Amino acid sequence: MSAGRYAPSPTGTLHLGNLRTALVSWLAARASGRPFLLRVEDLDRVRSGAEAEQLADLAAVGITWDAPPVRQSERTPRYDASVAALRAAHGADVVYECFCSRKDIAEATSAPHPTAEPRDDDGGAAPDASLASGAARRPPGFYPGTCRGLTEDERAERRRTRPAALRIDAARAAGLPAGTVPRAHARDVLHGEVTGLVDDLVLRRNDGAYAYNLSVVVDDLAQGVDQVVRGDDLLDSTPRQRWLAELLSAARGETAPPTEYLHVPLVLNAGGRRLAKRDGAVTLADLAAQDPRWTPERVRDRLLESLGLPAGPLEGAVAAFDPRGLPREPWVFDPAGFVV
Ligand code: GLU
Repeated sequence: MSAGRYAPSPTGTLHLGNLRTALVSWLAARASGRPFLLRVEDLDRVRSGAEAEQLADLAAVGITWDAPPVRQSERTPRYDASVAALRAAHGADVVYECFCSRKDIAEATSAPHPTAEPRDDDGGAAPDASLASGAARRPPGFYPGTCRGLTEDERAERRRTRPAALRIDAARAAGLPAGTVPRAHARDVLHGEVTGLVDDLVLRRNDGAYAYNLSVVVDDLAQGVDQVVRGDDLLDSTPRQRWLAELLSAARGETAPPTEYLHVPLVLNAGGRRLAKRDGAVTLADLAAQDPRWTPERVRDRLLESLGLPAGPLEGAVAAFDPRGLPREPWVFDPAGFVV
């Protein structure tokens, strides 16, 4: 199995940045002979009507897909089964209940750790495979393991005040000594080797919804996706997702397929921030309302040009597509210059 995909979250209307990334996903799949799939990531902040609108806008710029779109909201049994597989492979406690709020985590990570030692910023003192947890200067939000190892009584006590999220004990799953932090790697076409530390990431949130990092990995594996194209705001999540993909596959006696990652530079507004609806006419509907000559084909052509690809029907762009030749800088959207 092999496939590329686009995985929009139906939280609102797709804007030029989303459409541009979707075009790159489609072109990368077509140019490499992969089937192209759409997956609606509707586990969070869903806006009613957004899914239909997004699919219509994708079709309007020429994107086609080779199977009916799947919705994450209909795939809960797969996520349940993945958690069960991790527990079966590494023991029930490899997935544990966590009762911490964001504030608890922020406080725990900003407090000086009793065993903290001064370190170089590059973490040079740490062995490559793991990092002694007490000695690490953890990035903000990095989970310090507060609820790992709570007793059953302590958990029962905490359940009375707060529902539990589920986290993975990353060290235990990786077969490392308790409290060490695995380091994970992935390779991106534009960014090269990316590495990151894997904390005890959330698999299921405390509102019962499965977390993005789990659902995306489970679905990419289940759908045979071996080409992941998305905005480069998600680059930092890639090593830990790759790590989780390998872990989940191994728990099932399988091997995660080698995967091509391609993180596309975002579209920014004139102020250098990520493009958003408030930046003017940035959706197909807004552009058409502003000037009826903004047909979806014309918008597609502008997006192709911004990628250094030939305008016109997408076949031409497929023939010219070379992922390594894509722009490495963000595209700055200037409404004044974006005229028909
Ligand atoms: N659903 C995510 C988003 O819209 C993208 C996930 C992915 O491509 O991995 O930001």
